[in-house]
Amino acid sequence: MITSAQCLKRYGDPNLLETQNKHFEVWIIPNNIREAFKHVRFSAVGTIGFPKKIFINKDFRPVLEEALRNVIERDLADELITWDGCFIIRQKRGLSSLSLHSWALAVDVNAFENQLNQEPKLSAEFVKCFTDAGCDWGGTWQRVDGMHFELATI
Ligand SMILES: [Zn+2]
Repeated sequence: MITSAQCLKRYGDPNLLETQNKHFEVWIIPNNIREAFKHVRFSAVGTIGFPKKIFINKDFRPVLEEALRNVIERDLADELITWDGCFIIRQKRGLSSLSLHSWALAVDVNAFENQLNQEPKLSAEFVKCFTDAGCDWGGTWQRVDGMHFELATI
């Protein structure tokens, strides 16, 4: 599991434009991914349809893309119901250290039914799409965070 201290050292302060300009990119979502997830609710804006672009860490983009392609290829696209975001500078809920969302190294999905410290509803097959691609899943943590996937190593 990557720590916020490691991220600070590797990428710098996520509040700085310099950090974002150097390490983040605007990923324009390929049409075939958007098409496969056109049913998904984009919770931040309350609309139906996968985001057209995602502001994401350059080290996480290929991992997330592979995870989403695994979901599509394994015929699990219907299991993704809500897209709950990647980049947001914030502390881990209830803790003082920064969340990996602060460096755009994490995503939340199906938050409505995978709340903090609750039994996750995501299937093992869906989770494996992400862990196979190089993500850690918050659903196995002591502080269970079933909606949350993040880059496993930097
Ligand atoms: Zn999260």
